[in-house]
Amino acid sequence: MNIERSPAPGSPLYSADPKAGYLAQRGEIDAAIKRVLESGRYVLGAECEAFEQEFAAWLGTPASAAVANGTDAIELALRAARVGPGDKVATVANTVSATVAGIVAAGAEPVFVEIEPDTMLLDAGALEQALASTKGIKAVVPVHLYGQACDMPRIMEIARRHQLIVVEDCAQAHGATVGGKKAGAWGGLAGFSFYPTKNLGALGDGGAVTGVNRELVEKVRLLRQYGWKTRYVSDEHGRNSRLDEIQAAILRVRLRRLDQENAFRGQLAGIYLKELAGKGVVLPWVAPGRTHVWHQFVVRTPQRDELKAKLEQAEIFCGVLYPVPLHRQPAYADSAVSLPETERACAEVLSLPLHPGLRAGAVAKVAAAVRAGAAKV
Ligand SMILES: *Cc1c(COP(=O)(O)O)cnc(C)c1O
Repeated sequence: MNIERSPAPGSPLYSADPKAGYLAQRGEIDAAIKRVLESGRYVLGAECEAFEQEFAAWLGTPASAAVANGTDAIELALRAARVGPGDKVATVANTVSATVAGIVAAGAEPVFVEIEPDTMLLDAGALEQALASTKGIKAVVPVHLYGQACDMPRIMEIARRHQLIVVEDCAQAHGATVGGKKAGAWGGLAGFSFYPTKNLGALGDGGAVTGVNRELVEKVRLLRQYGWKTRYVSDEHGRNSRLDEIQAAILRVRLRRLDQENAFRGQLAGIYLKELAGKGVVLPWVAPGRTHVWHQFVVRTPQRDELKAKLEQAEIFCGVLYPVPLHRQPAYADSAVSLPETERACAEVLSLPLHPGLRAGAVAKVAAAVRAGAAKV
């Protein structure tokens, strides 16, 4: 990998570095921005259309619709599939507020289901239980958290039996596969985010809806611009969720490097897995038949806060995704919901620095600090 800027030895290490992504492709990104500035077209133009086609081709779906961010992608995908007021949507509570913000913005009500203890992803068995015990669940939003896809074959099978709409949350899983098929191409609709720290990141906000059903993706294209089918005439009650041309042009450049960067993330993850095996923290587990794109490298320990503090003394800054599960947050609190595996995960998870701007030596240094820290706490 030819990353121009890599942290100098001894400089602080963080769990993401979007600037490194820019610097790695600076010449091409600067040229793309200049091209847009000189084109005179700044929102939903040729760059956006080209990105939509290139992204859909990379993913293996017939179409994609670019939108303003990942939260909107989830909302507009649900609305395109006619999920709204009066409907319930099953999802997990160990995700960022955005997942549920998208569900609520569509007018639907979230129903939190439990996760598998090993992958920390939506538990298909718990989904079946929720369908049996709760009336009105019309859709499920499986969240492909940390870079690993959920058990999509099983979730799709359940969805078929219960006529459930599936909207995958792919914001952390650009390129992750299950049985060789990419997250976001499983049959329903999917929402992607291109927030700068994601595996495919813009230099601002961005998002996309993908799907195998071309008509539903076309519906998103209406909804993202006031419901216009033809200019100035609304077919549907839509909103404004457009992608600008500068971000689209940048994303086209970043997309060309995504597979290479994901592979490099995999190499760095391999160093952690080797250096930390049996060293006092629980390592991430990749389920058979899946590939992981290492958006986050998440270890677990009941002494998470102590370990995090020890690493900070060594100028290593880890993330916690996510410290408070959604059903325990003021906006979405539901004291009737009990999700012990979710709560335990939120208390134990720690994201070690892993991004394409790091070098192998920095990762080995973090691993040594984790070994030392885990031995002491
Ligand atoms: C980033 C993220 C989102 C939301 O994306 P935005 O572009 O910030 O709206 C949704 N779900 C998950 C799991 C995310 O990580």
